[in-house]
Amino acid sequence: MRIAVISDIHSNEHALRKALSIIDKSAIDEIYCLGDIVGYGAFPNECIELIRQRAKHCVIGNHDVAAIDPTFADYFTKHGRIAVQWTHSTLTEKNLEFLKSLPYTVTTDLCTLAHSGPAEPEEFEYVQSLQSAAKQFSAFSTQLCFIGHTHIPTLCGENLKTFVLKNGMRFLINVGSVGQPRDGNPQLSFGIFDTTLWRYQNIRAEYDVEGASRAIHDRGLPPLLGKRLFQGQ
Ligand code: ZN
Repeated sequence: MRIAVISDIHSNEHALRKALSIIDKSAIDEIYCLGDIVGYGAFPNECIELIRQRAKHCVIGNHDVAAIDPTFADYFTKHGRIAVQWTHSTLTEKNLEFLKSLPYTVTTDLCTLAHSGPAEPEEFEYVQSLQSAAKQFSAFSTQLCFIGHTHIPTLCGENLKTFVLKNGMRFLINVGSVGQPRDGNPQLSFGIFDTTLWRYQNIRAEYDVEGASRAIHDRGLPPLLGKRLFQGQ
């Protein structure tokens, strides 16, 4: 089976449609989504509708929680808070209900899915150190755990020393962000895992950054949220 794992779309329909077009050419059996479908970008309803149609599993992200209840965004940046308010007032009732229905974690026979990590998933900690990765390993029992949240693609084995996928070892895999990469590379990022070959690929691809950025401007969202897409920051 081949699984595509996507995360942190952040209402960027241009990037999401490009990722789905790659997925459609890659013999993918199932799509899993790791949350933050909304926030920052101009197309929250469109992105939720695509995820509702295409993803077999989806977990909730901190921006999805904030879109349901904007008071959750008190610790966000100023621009993030403006986007949360706009998203909350733009979402249809049906799409808000969909976000409310999402769990914090999903476990399949193969893997665990969580937005930030399976250890205290409601806290949305950033897994950016080996210490934090070790904490996550103690919170799942499947062979793989897929996460997002930092918008930076990484892969780490349970011994905290192996950074290339091997069979027989458990791995924590951050698939990066479809809609707002932050590793200095503006190309969209997601993962494809092949269970037969036991192979993981981090996919990077260009998309219409110009269109996504223009839409942010046209909707009256903070222009900085469009500009950062060109820089991958
Ligand atoms: Zn995010």
